Amino acid sequence: MLIVQKYGGTSLGDAGRIQAAADRVAGLARQGAQVVVVVSAQGDTTDEMIARAAQLNPRGAAREMDAYLAAGEQMSAGLMAMAIGALGCPAVSLTGWQAGIHTDARFGNARIQSIDPERIRKELAAGKVVVTAGFQGVSDAGDVTTLGRGGSDTTAVALAAWLDADRCQIFTDVDGVYDRDPRRYPEAIRFGRISYEKMLRLIENGAQVLHDRSVELARDHGIRIEVLSAFTGAPGTIVSALE
Ligand code: ADP
Ligand code: ASP
Ligand code: MG
Repeated sequence: MLIVQKYGGTSLGDAGRIQAAADRVAGLARQGAQVVVVVSAQGDTTDEMIARAAQLNPRGAAREMDAYLAAGEQMSAGLMAMAIGALGCPAVSLTGWQAGIHTDARFGNARIQSIDPERIRKELAAGKVVVTAGFQGVSDAGDVTTLGRGGSDTTAVALAAWLDADRCQIFTDVDGVYDRDPRRYPEAIRFGRISYEKMLRLIENGAQVLHDRSVELARDHGIRIEVLSAFTGAPGTIVSALE
């Protein structure tokens, strides 16, 4: 059983939350699953980094912004691997390029073109949990790229596709996909299941709960996405071909 689990920024917001995610991952690994974890930058890190860069150069070169912003996810990956390791479960963190994630060279909005899964497979075969930094890859020229805001979802789905994973779970700060933003509309209704097409329409109308590219990739590769709460054991939402 190979499982890809992605944790978003709020779900990694402080040490306690990283610990809770690490506990879940280590539990699966102990049951014998191979686990690939994809992490976002913690909390508001990416927003804060963008603001800091703007103080120095409001029109910072896109290449340099990507080199800089990718560090947010790398910090999470290192922390998560250490948290999992502290539970006695061997784990290794990988940057996007170490994980073999190749993209085009559109800095700030790069698209994944292929993944060379050799390194990840090697680490999994050695019995390790692999923690991959989301939101990033490497261009043919060897430059660091980022996938656009919210792009860690796309890293997770792409890894699930290229690794032929059995499950792809996106852990976030709400317990699934709703017909409208549940934070703004308490009467919002949760979908138990939603089709790729309907999910893409929701995203077009502003639901940023999943990155649009992640849903397109899932549709194209037949990946069933489970959107789950990082904080509760609620059933969540399945995004798949069928409603
Ligand atoms: P993460 O950091 O886990 O990637 P995001 O902030 O990108 O989380 O996405 C989760 C947020 O999406 C929720 O906190 C919620 O406010 C918002 N959201 C907007 N529309 C929807 C919707 N239709 N269903 C669920 N969440 C939604
Ligand atoms: N940290 C990046 C962002 O805020 C990527 C992500 O969270 O998926 O957009
Ligand atoms: Mg997101």
